[in-house]
Order: sequence, then structure tokens, then C-alpha cells
Amino acid sequence: MSQTASPAVPLMGDPSPAEAAAVFLSTEALKTDDFDCQACGACCAYSQEWPRFSLESDEDLDKIPEDLVAADLSGMRCEADRCLALDGTLGLHVGCRIYAVRPIVCRDCMPGDPECLMARARLTETLQRAAEAAA
Ligand code: SF4
Ligand code: SF4
Repeated sequence: MSQTASPAVPLMGDPSPAEAAAVFLSTEALKTDDFDCQACGACCAYSQEWPRFSLESDEDLDKIPEDLVAADLSGMRCEADRCLALDGTLGLHVGCRIYAVRPIVCRDCMPGDPECLMARARLTETLQRAAEAAA
């Protein structure tokens, strides 16, 4: 996972003030040790360098829809830093569209590990900025 600073994480379009408030409230959960991946998604939107393919077999990669794979076939397709397979609103409710066949790096990121904490810290900052901008 790259540690390079990057632009704001795209949430889900421009949040309305109400959405931003909900997101802001959810960031409180992000600061706790309650690692609920379905209310987070931070590691799936940390860097376009993150969901890269590694030791997957060709058979496994063939199970990932082509439109979700990067043009150079190096990993998942991303919009800014967010993996396109991630549905939902960051910090609120998210889900991986290809969970059963997700890349190895996605399986290796464990709730509470250093990469998780780094991604959650940045998402918390991003959500707070979004909430402040909508206030
Ligand atoms: S592994 Fe950590 S950063 Fe990734 S979704 Fe789960 S709680 Fe969030
Ligand atoms: S493939 Fe799924 S688990 Fe992996 S980064 Fe994308 S949304 Fe997250």
C-alpha cells in the first residue's frame, strides 16, 4: 500500500448536507476499535496502488468482471483512489461487488492492522472535511 499523500477520497458524488452530517457522525465509529468493514471501506479507497494483483491465478482473475479491471491489467480499476468494485458510501455503509473473488491484497488487509489504521485515519480526515464543507 502506498503511503503517498493523495487527493480527497471520492465519497459517492457530492454529499448533501444531510448526507455529510450522517457521514460525519459515522466517523465517530471510525475512531473506535469497532472495526466494522461494512461501515468503513477505507482500505478500498486509500490508493489506486492498493488493489493490485499479485499471486492470483489466471483462473481467479478471469472471475473478476473486465470493466472492474485496470486498463493495464495490473489490478482493480479505480476512480481517483477508490476501487470501482466498492459500492455504497464510505464511512457509512459499503460493500465489495466482487467479495468472493477479490484480490489477495484485499484478503490480507485485516481489521485493526497497521494498513487498516492508516486507511481509516485518512478516511476520518476526509469525512470530517466533507462534513465541514457541507455545514
Ligand atoms: S480492513 Fe480496516 S480499513 Fe479496511 S474496511 Fe475493514 S475496518 Fe475499514
Ligand atoms: S476489490 Fe473489493 S475488497 Fe478489494 S479494494 Fe476493491 S472493493 Fe475493496
